[in-house]
Amino acid sequence: MSDRETRHKRSMQKLKSHVDDRVASATEQRGLLMVFTGNGKGKTTAAWGTVTRALGYGYKVGVVQFIKGAWECGERERLSEDDNLEVQVMATGFTWETQNRASDIQACLEVWHEAERMLADPSVYLVVLDEITYMLKFGYLDIERVMTALQHRPIEQTVIITGRNAHRDLTDRADTVTEMQETRHAFNSGIQARRGIDY
Ligand code: ATP
Ligand code: MG
Repeated sequence: MSDRETRHKRSMQKLKSHVDDRVASATEQRGLLMVFTGNGKGKTTAAWGTVTRALGYGYKVGVVQFIKGAWECGERERLSEDDNLEVQVMATGFTWETQNRASDIQACLEVWHEAERMLADPSVYLVVLDEITYMLKFGYLDIERVMTALQHRPIEQTVIITGRNAHRDLTDRADTVTEMQETRHAFNSGIQARRGIDY
């Protein structure tokens, strides 16, 4: 064996023992609270990717779309053929289009009600609360109410929260927090959002 191969073998052995130790020390089994936040692209995409993953094993999944419910969404089109997926959508479009705080709050609370039902149902393996961070930011939803529902959810249930400017209580509580960082976005070069790529 050459020097290089010997060195590689030794360093792989070290790495393997490190990884084995880490795997052995992860002993807890329970659902997770995950937050996908930050200004970069990919939060909702990552959530739908996880939805696909869970559906792939036959688990039941609930997705609640706040704000952008009225928008087209390719994943929703495709995956809603699966009986294990329930999607609830906030009926109004963007808040700056409706420009009516009272009706926005009502639409938000209606769809939140569906979210609360999912968060209390042990048969639902994964719940996605897409763009819910804005509901908290606008004051349409109380953080206490959301935290209570999250804390009392079934032990095996995983929840994914997406949206920019996630409330501190959410990121403090979450098991996994990913901050998508924008390095560049095509939109800022004047390129339109593309069907089947961006939505
Ligand atoms: P995606 O749905 O593509 O995963 P996202 O959930 O991370 O994006 P949102 O803030 O929810 O980001 O963005 C919704 C829409 O705006 C999507 O069509 C997305 O492609 C686009 N978008 C995301 N990030 C940016 C950005 N930094 N600048 C402009 N448009 C963006
Ligand atoms: Mg999003």
